[in-house]
Amino acid sequence: MLIEHYIVDVRRQFTGESLTGARRRLHGLRDWSKPLPAAHSGDQARLEGHLLQALGTGRGRNPLGVTEVVPGTDHLVLRLESVDTFAPLLRLMPYRDRRRSRHGLLDLRVSASRRGIELVLGRSGSGRALIVGPQGCDLTTAVDDHRQAIESMQYLQLWTKDTPHDPMPRPMTSRRPRPKARPMDPYAVRAELASALLRRLHLWNSLVAGSSVTFTSQPLDSGLLWTVERCVPHHRPLHDDIATALADPVAGPGLPLDATDHPCDQEQCVQSFDSGRLTVRTIRGENDRPARPASRARAHVRSTFLREAKQSPIADDQTRAGHVLQLIAPWGEGHAGAADQLAAAWAREGLHTLILSTGSSRETRNTAVSWRRARLTGGRGAMFKAYSNLIHHDLEADIARARGVFDHIILVKRNWTDTPLLGFSPLADDHLIVAGGQFPKTTRTTTVRAGELRRRSLPLTPTESAVAWLHHRLGRVPFSDVPMTGLLLWCERDESCTDGFDTEVDAELARHGMPVLGRLPQTPRFSPDRTVLDHVPDEQRKFVIQQANQVRQCLGPAHANATAFRTALREYADL
Ligand SMILES: [Zn+2]
Ligand SMILES: [Zn+2]
Ligand SMILES: [Zn+2]
Repeated sequence: MLIEHYIVDVRRQFTGESLTGARRRLHGLRDWSKPLPAAHSGDQARLEGHLLQALGTGRGRNPLGVTEVVPGTDHLVLRLESVDTFAPLLRLMPYRDRRRSRHGLLDLRVSASRRGIELVLGRSGSGRALIVGPQGCDLTTAVDDHRQAIESMQYLQLWTKDTPHDPMPRPMTSRRPRPKARPMDPYAVRAELASALLRRLHLWNSLVAGSSVTFTSQPLDSGLLWTVERCVPHHRPLHDDIATALADPVAGPGLPLDATDHPCDQEQCVQSFDSGRLTVRTIRGENDRPARPASRARAHVRSTFLREAKQSPIADDQTRAGHVLQLIAPWGEGHAGAADQLAAAWAREGLHTLILSTGSSRETRNTAVSWRRARLTGGRGAMFKAYSNLIHHDLEADIARARGVFDHIILVKRNWTDTPLLGFSPLADDHLIVAGGQFPKTTRTTTVRAGELRRRSLPLTPTESAVAWLHHRLGRVPFSDVPMTGLLLWCERDESCTDGFDTEVDAELARHGMPVLGRLPQTPRFSPDRTVLDHVPDEQRKFVIQQANQVRQCLGPAHANATAFRTALREYADL
């Protein structure tokens, strides 16, 4: 199956979007490391938490009576089954009663437009949702009726766009007594949890056709504890793959299952996630009016996705090649991008790949590296990423562990240092230099003749070009003393093949011990992380896969040359 079809299908299983809509929106994403965008702003996520709570006990043919969820970074569209589904949202609309007490969600503004009911939350209006009714159903009437009801009680509506927001709380000064803390909206605390669930509302009935869900929340510390109550049909097992789907960090919400024993018997299965912030209780019961059953094609995608989402990529009893490749970019020319390209291309060929970045940021303090899925592959392959902290982690142990689980580990150091000895890792089996691949065809001379500057450009032969390129681009790399596997070059995006001049330069570089193993197209700036597992033109996909396979065939076996490499580094240091 084409990666594009697969990603579209996976996304639709979470959102219930139309095929054309989902396809169009996926094309607009930078890459597919997150096929469903997350809410960008806190107000956006908070609004979605309130929506989930308000709609949370609704019933319908679809989950909560919501036909379709369209997630965007700065907005959300909900298509409802009926006006009845909309009614609970009216309770969020703020108003003031005759005693001047205020009710509802105070910083919510609501307006009706031709497209639907627009909700805007927050002082800066950065939380946005559009509620759309079914075909031929006008939600405007419901809002109008609600306004009339409010006014007939001589209450004052506070939801129109021109209602001013409360003044900002004054900054505290030492002279004043400490003002009473304003009650914080509990929906603002870890709001992304509820947002991620609402954005994946169709997950539950995609997983088990004919099941139904409700969402409720209770206050927990300063935030909320969410409970999903899930009814599955009588013939279905209570304990199923839901934890796998919820834990997936690429398409799923990335909520880890809590490592405690959970109540699981003939009556119910109760699992808790994200340090107890989410509880999922599965019981048996029939949804009397389920939406269409999943088609066979969709069911296939689902089982593929769940198999993919396994946390440990060792699913089969295969032993992994465990090869470590270090990518080195002396000028910082996108070695991370090159790692993405190679790892994705090899994963697409069915291999298990890991990009292991190292750095010395002081933020992460956990003692063992954990790898996270980076892309969906839709096949046997897998692409993971991990970050190893040089201060707090033992890189050697991390690599040893990774060798047992992955075919290819691509090691990427965050910063190139001026001490090449620190730049190269003897833990790697192969070392590739990543650099721009434009070979000079001319060189410039400047002379003074009779008080005037004279500039000329001289043509270079391929041999001269190779030497000039080596000394100019690789000046910081001790390639003549430390054995490098070769070069990985960036080429112009459109020029996927090389000309005769390049071929001759390549041969000369090989003579200097720096063979060109492959070329990758320079990625466009707006989507630097796009790989063959994302949306790229077919031509480019073919070229990258061919080049990546060529690179792979040039790599040596794992554990072969470590001692020799260490010796070379030591001798170079003693020079
Ligand atoms: Zn269970
Ligand atoms: Zn030379
Ligand atoms: Zn396309």
